[in-house]
Amino acid sequence: MSNRGWSFAAAMVVLAFAWVTPAAAAPDGGFVEIAPGVHVRHGAVAGTTSENHGAIANLGFIVGTRAVAMIDSGGSVADGEAALAAIRQVTDKPVEWLIDTHMHPDHVFGNQVFKAVGATILGHRRLPAALAARADFYKQSMREQLGPALDDAVTVTLPDDTVADERRIDLGGRTILVKAWETAHTDNDLTVYDEATRTLFAGDLLFMEHCPVVDGSILGWLAQLPALTAIPAERVVPGHGPVSAPWPEALEPQARYLETLAADIRKAIAEGVPMAEAVPQAAASERDKWQLFDDYNPRNATAAYAELEWE
Ligand SMILES: [Zn+2]
Repeated sequence: MSNRGWSFAAAMVVLAFAWVTPAAAAPDGGFVEIAPGVHVRHGAVAGTTSENHGAIANLGFIVGTRAVAMIDSGGSVADGEAALAAIRQVTDKPVEWLIDTHMHPDHVFGNQVFKAVGATILGHRRLPAALAARADFYKQSMREQLGPALDDAVTVTLPDDTVADERRIDLGGRTILVKAWETAHTDNDLTVYDEATRTLFAGDLLFMEHCPVVDGSILGWLAQLPALTAIPAERVVPGHGPVSAPWPEALEPQARYLETLAADIRKAIAEGVPMAEAVPQAAASERDKWQLFDDYNPRNATAAYAELEWE
């Protein structure tokens, strides 16, 4: 078959699949192995909708010789079920651990799927209180975004066990290091470091492409960048953005964004510019560098103004 003929045939196959695939098909998993035994699902850089089933965060799992650790459970029960099905295509070893990197619904609304198969859910020491306090609000906002058909399936499921500082977990033949951070993206951020492949799961302590979201403390986040940078990882899996990126270079755009936002807000406060005028101008030089900037930057600027006014 000529090149042109093959291309035509391939195009017809693509069209045929496009035709039979329903617009709201359940997520298929779509995990890729980014390092030996380390699998990551790329989350759409988008808000939660009924079409994407809340599959907007990067999820991962790490396979040891004895057991599997899942990192974040997805933005809906359907998203969690797709992730569990993806694990089962790779291994039948037990999923002993589900590690929640923080409280946001796109990372924890699939928790019940992993609890049902016997995983111990592990979170930051402040996660249970933080998630419990926001459970009703998250259910309500996710109902608006996912639609009742998907949201009604979700039971907000809290961790069974927590990390105050650091915890080493043996999966058989490899050890992962779970670390609890001080308030930054939220007040309950965890990272997971796979020592065997030097892969860091940063959760939402690292945003790439997707505008960072400050739901904890901009000063806290900036203060922890040196300690994050010092992690001897080779690659990082950000909470949002590509499935894998070189470390620590991947941190640079986010550090620049946070520093710019803090500097612009500090200047406005020093000049007596009120919050309502300062917010639309803050970090304007970053606007074309991030997706979803207009959704999140105004909220970040408002939070930063309130925080920096009292420094
Ligand atoms: Zn988050």
